[in-house]
Amino acid sequence: MPELPEVEATRLSFADRIAGARIVSAWLGKPLRWPLGLPAEQLSGLRVRAVRRRGKYLLLDLEPGLLLLHLGMSGSLSFARTLPPRGPHDHFELGTDQGILRLNDPRRFGAVVWAPDEEAPAARKLLGGLGVEPMEREFEPDTFHAALRARRSAIKQVLLAGDVVVGVGNIYASEALFLAGIRPTLSAARLSRPRAVRLHAAIRDVLGRALAVGGTTLRNYSNAVGERGNFQFEVRVYGREGEPCRVCGTPIKAIRQGQRATFFCPKCQKT
Ligand SMILES: [Zn+2]
Repeated sequence: MPELPEVEATRLSFADRIAGARIVSAWLGKPLRWPLGLPAEQLSGLRVRAVRRRGKYLLLDLEPGLLLLHLGMSGSLSFARTLPPRGPHDHFELGTDQGILRLNDPRRFGAVVWAPDEEAPAARKLLGGLGVEPMEREFEPDTFHAALRARRSAIKQVLLAGDVVVGVGNIYASEALFLAGIRPTLSAARLSRPRAVRLHAAIRDVLGRALAVGGTTLRNYSNAVGERGNFQFEVRVYGREGEPCRVCGTPIKAIRQGQRATFFCPKCQKT
């Protein structure tokens, strides 16, 4: 599923080219996770000022209004002057005078939601509970440690929940915990300050490397111009059950935590 690095790579792949474009048509196919919030045709005539990202949401700043886009489990965007005819999994399209933006989403957990602005209820509902951005200055070791101390759940679950820090999805949480030498099942509240500091640095390191290589492509993720990510070639634990740890040679273990697979090295991540 697209996580922060994939969403950011998607944003970077079309943001500059759609900025300033005028919307000439809008089309909505099968229902997505949440309703658009207005008839699609009403987007016609509006201008796209910029594309921002908050957590895993892409925010298209319109003139006026805001379009929030989420890629869900299996969504991907394409942006090009011309695109092939729509397929059965294409569910949203914006035609602009600078190109066509199309959402393909086989599982339809993605969404496109219109809001008059970021403070409107439709936007607050989606963005309101999000934690800090991991690559911004606001993500800071002391406040991170303080937030973890208030949580009794397993550290990996707390990272995935996204209300302390956004964008640390399943792959990146497993990788960061490995790098920091922390067992994914450890209660967040029990992390000492030095270990929280190490984890903070590990999250930055893992996400930074993933951003640098355009994210992770496990099955079919690609950005808005069709480029795949390459972080799957750098993973140390994710998806490597039974294979030797790249540090100590111990077989990597896989467990389930809250319906999600967690991978760790029992020796490098003792507690
Ligand atoms: Zn190891």
